Amino acid sequence: MGTILNAVCTACNFNKQLFTGGGMQNFTTYHGLPAINLKTKKLVVKNYMEKEALKGKVIFYNEPGMSEGGRQLTADEDDTDIGLNTEKNKCPACGKYTMNFEFAGVWD
Ligand SMILES: [Zn+2]
Repeated sequence: MGTILNAVCTACNFNKQLFTGGGMQNFTTYHGLPAINLKTKKLVVKNYMEKEALKGKVIFYNEPGMSEGGRQLTADEDDTDIGLNTEKNKCPACGKYTMNFEFAGVWD
């Protein structure tokens, strides 16, 4: 099952709902992970399984420099162990490490 996350910045009013992970139909080939599009600087969800092809285009939130640490999502919240932090993530809007990923539910 995929995970619905709310990306919420505590320093500015940035707020976006993200559908991450994979669904029942596509989990073997798709795992959506929050990332920043390096061209548009926008927060997006991209397929982590295609990270080699996406190199230089997006930077995923489990990569160095994207978070200053904090609690990682538990197995219940993210069954993939991909290493996403729930807090102190870099905000695409204000650039501070003040964005949280809040668990908001699941999708299939
Ligand atoms: Zn912000």
